[in-house]
Amino acid sequence: MASHAPSKRTEALTLLRAGVPNREVAEQLGVPRGTVGWWRSEDRRARGEEYRRPTDCPRCTEHAVDRTAYSYLLGLYLGDGHIVSKPGQHHLSVYCDARYTGLVAAAEDAMRAVLPSTATGRRSRNGCVEVKSYTRHWTCLFPQHGPGPKHERRIALELWQREIVDARPWEFVRGLIHSDGCRITNWTTRSVGGERRRYEYPRYLFTNKSDDVRALFTGALDALGITWTVLNRDGKPYNISVARKASVALMDLHVGAKY
Ligand SMILES: [Zn+2]
Repeated sequence: MASHAPSKRTEALTLLRAGVPNREVAEQLGVPRGTVGWWRSEDRRARGEEYRRPTDCPRCTEHAVDRTAYSYLLGLYLGDGHIVSKPGQHHLSVYCDARYTGLVAAAEDAMRAVLPSTATGRRSRNGCVEVKSYTRHWTCLFPQHGPGPKHERRIALELWQREIVDARPWEFVRGLIHSDGCRITNWTTRSVGGERRRYEYPRYLFTNKSDDVRALFTGALDALGITWTVLNRDGKPYNISVARKASVALMDLHVGAKY
């Protein structure tokens, strides 16, 4: 590596501390970008400054949140997502059945729409795809993050989240169904005028152990005029069913089967 006059290093640090990106400093001073990066990390270490990656987090900056993507992602997160936030490891994970390639893509698209500058990745295991997005800022966006499973603690939306869900209720419902729900078809035969006919009963089911998450789901359904019932199984009210014809038709229009 060529040696650089100490004055260039001083000049570079002055620019870097003023917030000029590495690339620009490198161009301006005619120094390789790697050298600038090295100077910068040395300077930070010397000053005991923790490195903070630049972000477009809508909670920490003036960036507007993509409400459509956020409402869907909030549904996915409350259903089957989790955040890891500890020193050196920060990410949001959403788990998708590997058969539903459309859902895997939709989850990744939503993460990218909410935090465009954040890297995403996928990991496949046991027929499951974990879609991940790496940044500490998911805890700003999902303040419901906390220790232990969601059904063992209180899950309440903050006012700004409530406003987004109220403005984009179908996206929220779709996210919840895509993570913890399904569309199934039951059928039966009935005799009409001596002739046996087959009747199909499509329905949507949502299953979640958290009373709070189910209440958020049914609250959104109420706001949308969707009729629902609680299906008790083994004395547990974890299943919400939407089976009325008109309600299923609306769900088909806005949510649909997994894909
Ligand atoms: Zn943030």
